[in-house]
Amino acid sequence: TIKARDELVSLLPYPLGPPPETMQTKLGFSRIIRMGDNENPYGASPFALEAAKKELESVSRYPDGTYSRLYNALGEFHGLPEGFFIVGNGSDEVIRLLTRAFIGHGDEAVMASCTFPRYKTNVLIEGGIPVEVPLANGAHDLEGMMAQIGRKTKMVFVCNPNNPTGTIVEKNALAQFISDMPKNVMIVVDEAYVEYVTLGEMNDAKTILEKQPNVVILRTFSKIHGLAGLRIGYGMMAPEIAGELRKVKDVFNVNRVGAAAAAASLADKAFIAESAEKNCLEREYVANCLAGMGFTVLPSEANFLFVLLKESSLAAEASLAEKGIFVKGLAAPGYPNALRVALGCREENDAFLKALRSFAAEGV
Ligand code: PMP
Repeated sequence: TIKARDELVSLLPYPLGPPPETMQTKLGFSRIIRMGDNENPYGASPFALEAAKKELESVSRYPDGTYSRLYNALGEFHGLPEGFFIVGNGSDEVIRLLTRAFIGHGDEAVMASCTFPRYKTNVLIEGGIPVEVPLANGAHDLEGMMAQIGRKTKMVFVCNPNNPTGTIVEKNALAQFISDMPKNVMIVVDEAYVEYVTLGEMNDAKTILEKQPNVVILRTFSKIHGLAGLRIGYGMMAPEIAGELRKVKDVFNVNRVGAAAAAASLADKAFIAESAEKNCLEREYVANCLAGMGFTVLPSEANFLFVLLKESSLAAEASLAEKGIFVKGLAAPGYPNALRVALGCREENDAFLKALRSFAAEGV
């Protein structure tokens, strides 16, 4: 047999169940309720869809490899020069570019022990060492993370709001953490869900990046923009860091349909504001109902809730899937039985609450 690199020996492919679409047919549902992937239940901006359709006319041609329209739109949106941006095939790709370019064998990367799993995987792929710090009250323990910074530390990940808990690190705490960090350590702040924050005060990307050359901020079009299927994300960072990522990225890493849709979506501020508002109402509603049912729910500022169960979370996930409701059952350090449930529209949320009530009462 042909041996893969040593770094891959202990890794497994990401576990994907059967696609919800096929379960719909198999189980005979007229529709399924997707609350497992933190998507936007209200779809995407009509302007983005229009732009995507128009772009289909040109799919026989490669995209503009400079992605000038998208970079221009991003620059305007954030008030930063275009050299600060890197677009990727999802922010997933930007994470991989960062570890590819900056993590070498034996380099350490500090992260929460219960956070987005791709940070750890990508660090391991490069032969780096993930240093995982438990959450404190469901949120990033910045003090604990700072205590792990040492000679070998190359990178620190702060997922804000954190997936899967939905908790945030507020503006002043993060600003202090960044200013205390040695300047040769890169701080990656993943803001995939930041548009959903309504209560906490968050940092402004431009203000941070203009002062702090060791910070990278990640955003995505997969969540509030509702374009998960087109796979577009981006990073904002000092041009020197962006220049290194350009060396390792594929030339046409983003497809032209996605690039066009993303640029158009940025301009539709009304769609984003409306999605955030509806999400906030549903988040309060579902969190209150769950609390009323006796569940502990962490305070979420994202488009999902982290619900602590007494029963097996995998059994809960399976029981809900039987009813056509897809959520994520997790066994994370400190949280052996948790459900991460993305907020849907009211009807979907009510169906979820009913199914969970039944599972808690009767095990089905
Ligand atoms: N970061 C976080 C925190 C996420 O939850 C996700 C998606 N689940 C991503 C990054 C990647 O998103 P995408 O690749 O779709 O942009």
